[in-house]
Amino acid sequence: MRRHFYYELIRGRSLRVIVVALISWLFAADVRADEATPSALHRVTFADDRSVTRTVDCRILLTAQDGGLLLEGRDGKLWTVSPKQLEKSESSDETFQPLPADQLGQQLQQELIEFGIKSPSEIIQTKHYVICSTAGRKYGEWVGGLFERLHDAFHLFWKEDDLNLHEPEFLLTAFVLKDQTEFVQLATQHDGADAAVSKGYFSIETNRIVMFDLSATQNSAPAKSFEEIRQKMRKSPFNVATVIHEATHQIAFNSGMHTRFADNPVWLTEGMAMFFEVPDLESHSGWKTVGKMNQTRLVRFRELLKQQREPTSLHSLIQSDSRLKDAAVAEAAYAESWALTYYLIKNRKVDYITYLKTLQGKSRLKADTPEERLGDFSKAFGANLDDLGRDFKRWPAWRSK
Ligand SMILES: [Zn+2]
Repeated sequence: MRRHFYYELIRGRSLRVIVVALISWLFAADVRADEATPSALHRVTFADDRSVTRTVDCRILLTAQDGGLLLEGRDGKLWTVSPKQLEKSESSDETFQPLPADQLGQQLQQELIEFGIKSPSEIIQTKHYVICSTAGRKYGEWVGGLFERLHDAFHLFWKEDDLNLHEPEFLLTAFVLKDQTEFVQLATQHDGADAAVSKGYFSIETNRIVMFDLSATQNSAPAKSFEEIRQKMRKSPFNVATVIHEATHQIAFNSGMHTRFADNPVWLTEGMAMFFEVPDLESHSGWKTVGKMNQTRLVRFRELLKQQREPTSLHSLIQSDSRLKDAAVAEAAYAESWALTYYLIKNRKVDYITYLKTLQGKSRLKADTPEERLGDFSKAFGANLDDLGRDFKRWPAWRSK
């Protein structure tokens, strides 16, 4: 089975991308959605991908015709269970409830131990987050503060729009590791070797962010104050942008903006993360940079504009994720996805909201065809993609300072 997570070396030269690979082997047959939001608590025992038997208290999101299950645990993790893996499924009269913060924190600490991370961990709890940190309490608190401000800024930005975004149902979780060595160790086991080459990532499957102390240098002691962290972070804004990018994915997938395991166009989800990724480390009261030009992406996009472009490039970006997954052209496709998102939000916001709402209605584990992708887009923005493409590329803002 392919893993389901986003990661990207945002500005790394060797950008590699793995994005949602739908589990078509399991749910190719018609899928029966038990309920829109199933409320019954189940206890399901199955052999996981490593053939370890697990018992998970969960709700059943989908049942395939062959008996395969898509489960959501009380910690927010998604599990796909094939009929062959399934050992026992018991229903109960109880209502499904997300884990409370203390139990979730204990579980995260237990997971670290299972993954062989030996350094002591601390749990930092904020309004929406439970952060498990081996990078010291101060750094964990700094990350928690950054995430909370981003969370509020995200909701504030979309507040006036008719998207019905909601508070996350599950407490949002993150592992913050003390250095890159621990990060690689955890990422490799948690999500595979590909994840370990990033600076941090959001796993759609586990709903967790995995990252490390970006201010740490070899043998440096954990930071003792926010000021010390901020000073170090000013020197690595690109790395901070990575963390914010991944945190935006997590918020978007937990607010009702996107649905985990639905076929979200990658240009859209990545464009959203890049729209918000511009770091705003100084602001204590709010995230003032939302909606500012992302200068790094803009520089790359300007280069693209200077090159001869195929007139169908917008088609190819919208109808399939292939350019964003192809390491040879992904960096350019990311810049184009940012630019398209930025252009549409600034110039066609009402239509962009219409498009988001269409995507909000997508079912889990159902892949769209290229024609369906284009159809959804045309329904919101009009059938003449060539005209839109021309206006997009000629937007004067791309050229102004
Ligand atoms: Zn991303």
